Amino acid sequence: MSVSSLDINIKKIEHSRIGEIDPANIQFGKNYSDHMLVAYYENGAWGKPEITPFHNLTFSPATTFLHYGQAIFEGVKAYKDPQGNPIIFRPYDNWKRMNRSAERMAMPDVPKEIFIDGMRELVNLDRDWVPTGNDTSLYIRPFMLAVDEFIGVRPAEKFMFIIITSPAGPYYNKPVSIYVQDKYVRAFPGGIGFTKAAGNYGMSMYPSMQIKKMGYDQILWTDGFEHKYVQEIGTMNVFFVIGDTVITPDVTQDTILEGVTRESVLTLLREKGVKVEERPLSIDEIEEAFHAGKLKEAFGTGTAASIAPIRELTFHEDKMELPDIEHWEITNWLKQELADIRYGRKKDTHNWVVTV
Ligand SMILES: *Cc1c(COP(=O)(O)O)cnc(C)c1O
Repeated sequence: MSVSSLDINIKKIEHSRIGEIDPANIQFGKNYSDHMLVAYYENGAWGKPEITPFHNLTFSPATTFLHYGQAIFEGVKAYKDPQGNPIIFRPYDNWKRMNRSAERMAMPDVPKEIFIDGMRELVNLDRDWVPTGNDTSLYIRPFMLAVDEFIGVRPAEKFMFIIITSPAGPYYNKPVSIYVQDKYVRAFPGGIGFTKAAGNYGMSMYPSMQIKKMGYDQILWTDGFEHKYVQEIGTMNVFFVIGDTVITPDVTQDTILEGVTRESVLTLLREKGVKVEERPLSIDEIEEAFHAGKLKEAFGTGTAASIAPIRELTFHEDKMELPDIEHWEITNWLKQELADIRYGRKKDTHNWVVTV
């Protein structure tokens, strides 16, 4: 089925490159599917999007985004359902979030017809690139760039919206070790922490390199005033199970990226009757809970890793090792539940899944 509401130019590839990938050994981000979608924004309006063979882009060295980072992106995944048809998980939520990022970065809204219908058309065309193996998916990367050829500092007037896709193999879900960051800051109230702006990632490279050298996998970011309240781990939202309550930082301060996985986890937990709290959570409270034997489980959430269990948490000299993951009831249930919905194995009662 093709998408009818979208007026779109399609130039198909002559010979598919799908033979280049080894289905038994797919490495994340190594291969890109046959086609990509490109739309231009100029003179206050979006032009007709085009789906073309995947190709390199050329830019003037004076192009805005290269200098000033007016660039945002999204991350979405498509899965094969039991009938072998591609389904996309919650793309409308990514579309809305992209436009929240766009507003904060002085970029134009991307219309639904381009983001959603364009994505469906693209995934439909490259449906053979959605892998079928256990734990595999097609990673979808929509992004927007400011492309004025002007080196002066001002909000741009010309933009490009692009979608590329890449087959993703099973995510190696080794439980992560976490270092609590009390020097560098990811996000401040009034900043851009709630957006998926390129700069949020650029600034995280140095601190993350430092803690990797120390032997940790990810940073637990804390607030910039007191380094007391936890925000996120690396580029994932974070959850702690203290006693019988699941706690995650609230998103009211613009400092936390409102993950689609986060929202899905909250919904599933509430429906199951698990006690859930979205509120400020301090590292002191986590430490106290740990030493009282009440810190039961902890995990990060994101489209790439889905649910990433936390093995240990280090804050100053305090190394907190969590119990054996096999026995974590909530995390393991969530992982299974979410996977069943994403792969279309379970009835989609939330309208989260979109066919192409
Ligand atoms: C993308 C992202 C997440 C996860 O969001 P999902 O929609 O669940 O993929 C969490 N934190 C940050 C900083 C992110 O960029």
